[in-house]
Parts: sequence; C-alpha cells; structure tokens
Amino acid sequence: MIQEIPFFSFDKINSDISPDIQVAFQDFLLSKSYILGDKLAQFEDEFAKYIGTQYTIGVSNGLDALFLSLISLDVGPGDEVIVPANTFIATIIAVLQTGAKPILVEPDIFSYNIDAKNVRKAISKNTKAIIPVHLYGNPCNMSEILKISKEFDVQIVEDNAQAQGAFWDRKRTGSFGILSATSFYPVKNLGALGDAGAISTSSKILRDRLHRLRNYGSDKKYHYQEIGYNKRLDECQAVFLSIKLDFLDIWNNARREIASIYNRELKSLNTIVIPYEDELAQHVYHLYVIRTKQRDNLKRFLQTKGIGTMVHYPIPPHKQFGYKHLHFYQKSFPITEELAGSSLSLPIYPGLSRGEIEYICKSIKEFFNG
Ligand SMILES: *Cc1c(COP(=O)(O)O)cnc(C)c1O
Repeated sequence: MIQEIPFFSFDKINSDISPDIQVAFQDFLLSKSYILGDKLAQFEDEFAKYIGTQYTIGVSNGLDALFLSLISLDVGPGDEVIVPANTFIATIIAVLQTGAKPILVEPDIFSYNIDAKNVRKAISKNTKAIIPVHLYGNPCNMSEILKISKEFDVQIVEDNAQAQGAFWDRKRTGSFGILSATSFYPVKNLGALGDAGAISTSSKILRDRLHRLRNYGSDKKYHYQEIGYNKRLDECQAVFLSIKLDFLDIWNNARREIASIYNRELKSLNTIVIPYEDELAQHVYHLYVIRTKQRDNLKRFLQTKGIGTMVHYPIPPHKQFGYKHLHFYQKSFPITEELAGSSLSLPIYPGLSRGEIEYICKSIKEFFNG
C-alpha cells in the first residue's frame, strides 16, 4: 500500500494557530495601525527574550536581515566577509549587496557547518565579519568561532534563519554574534504567513541604527540621519509571529522527536550517513538530511512510494551560473560538492505521524536491502 507523504505540510501548524489567528486578525484590523505599531514592538520584545538578546529589530525578510546587519557594521567595498561555501544563496547575496567580497570556506564533513580551522586560514587584513550559518537547524561550534572572533578582532553575524530555538552550550543560537539575522519565511521553524525577518542584538547603538536603516534612515518623522531603506516588518506578520512563537518550542520538540525515530531506525544502514549532533548542540531539525552515494536513485524510489523528499542544495553557490564572474578565494570546494551530490532531505514537520515515519524508514530499508 502506497502512502502519500508530502515533503512538507502546514496542516498541523495551521490548525494549532487557527483560532488565535482569527481573533488576533480582527483585533489587528480594528487597531488601524498597520506599520511600525505596538504589535510589532511587542513581537520584537518577545523574540529578543526568546533568543536571549536585549533587542530584536523586525525587518522585511531574512536576506534583508543579513544585509542590514552588515550595513550597520559599515561593511562595504574593500571588506571581506567569511561565509560557508555550502550555504543557501541569500547569505552570499547579502555580502555582495554591500559591495564586500564573500570569502567562501569549506564546511566540516560531519556537521555540514562552517569549519573553524578553514575560517582561521581565510582570515586576512580585510576580514570584517564571519557569518556562521546554523545549517539545517544544527548549531555551529560557536565556542571555536568566538575564539577566532576575539583573536582577530572580527565581528560575528550569525545566520540563524534555519535554527530558531537551537542551543549551543545552553545558549540559544542567535545570541552569540554581535548581531544575528533570521528569516520567518513560511517554512522556517518559526514562519510568518508571508515574508518576514529579524535581527537580534544586545547593542543599543546597533539597534538604534537598524531602526533608522529599515525606515528610510529616519530617527524622527521627516528627519533623515542617513540614507536608509524601506525594509520594515509588516505589523500583521508580527501579529501572526507572536502567536506562532508560543508554539515554537513545542514544534521544535516534535521535530526532534521525529529525528530521534529516524536516527534509531536508520543508523544500522551503513549505506547512509545520518545527521551529526554535537554533545554541546541542541539541533532543531529545520531539515533532516541524510547522505548516500545512491541519492538520486533513492529519491526516485521514495517518489514511487509516495514520499516527497528534497535536495538542499543541489548546486553550490560557487557553481551557479550567475556567480561565474566572481573570483572566490578558494577555487575548489570538494566537501561542498560532495554534500551537494549526496544529500537528501526527508520529510520532517510537526504533524508527521509515527506511522508515516515508520513507512518512510521501511521504504528506505527496502531500497537498500531489497
Ligand atoms: C531562508 C534563508 C535565508 C533567507 O531568508 P528569506 O526570508 O527568504 O530572505 C537566509 N539564510 C538562510 C540560511 C536561509 O535558510
């Protein structure tokens, strides 16, 4: 019997929040305050408390959160910013948009996160910042990266788009860097009902600057301290996000529970590599990524079983057509390419049932064991 299991589903998430959303939307409508109102300020406070920073500044999306973070640190032409070579493209675009040069470095083959020893090698006199990306929801080794940041006096801007709620050494990701950027793209662990993002920091100076930068450079209505942007977070998305934030730990625990079943069921297969979780890390499984030499065949086989899977990401940034003209610091990225060729993301989301997980595992075993 074939079961249809989509790669991702909003069913459970939406049914959890639906009653509260209806009430809150009516309230929002009647408030007549649709931009930079009290509800945005309330969500910003709640999210900052959650992450463990003094402040959060809501912005238009995750890319803008990264971009404005870099701009607030005066990153620009002539500067270098170190990023993992296997990140989602937005991390690299944010650096390019400032005029600075992204320096791609290879990830660690176990965690898939930026490798501290490669970061160290990539530091130059022009290095202004490092962007560790907590890829797939798995925290980077922040102890190592903080050491490098102190030693070479370079800033850390965390890309926390995939890891809201994760911990490294009992501190939430997003609270280690001078700034952290996150995305509330709908399928992220904390997703809005549209585009949204945020920056978190404990620096009041940076918070004040980011308030200006997202709103035309304005401190006070019709007074412009600098040339800014329009990259504000919509008030109604903030309303939805406040409601969803209350569920984030519950949903992350559901993801961790699913991952633990996958791990238990799949660890005996020596043809696949299951995700690595450091002792100091608490992974929030934005994605559950396995690796196998037979990735494409397994993907096709699971499709015939009704199981949706995806590849994150099939073509690494340095091989993308639009990036051909850029001269990246290192020309070859064998680990990044190995990951692109062997990674497969299995369904993982609140509401995925035990029966469905077991069916997925049984199908994977059937593929390898016949
Ligand atoms: C989703 C994502 C972003 C960008 O977020 P948007 O809201 O889509 O702009 C940036 N970095 C990473 C790692 C992401 O996963």
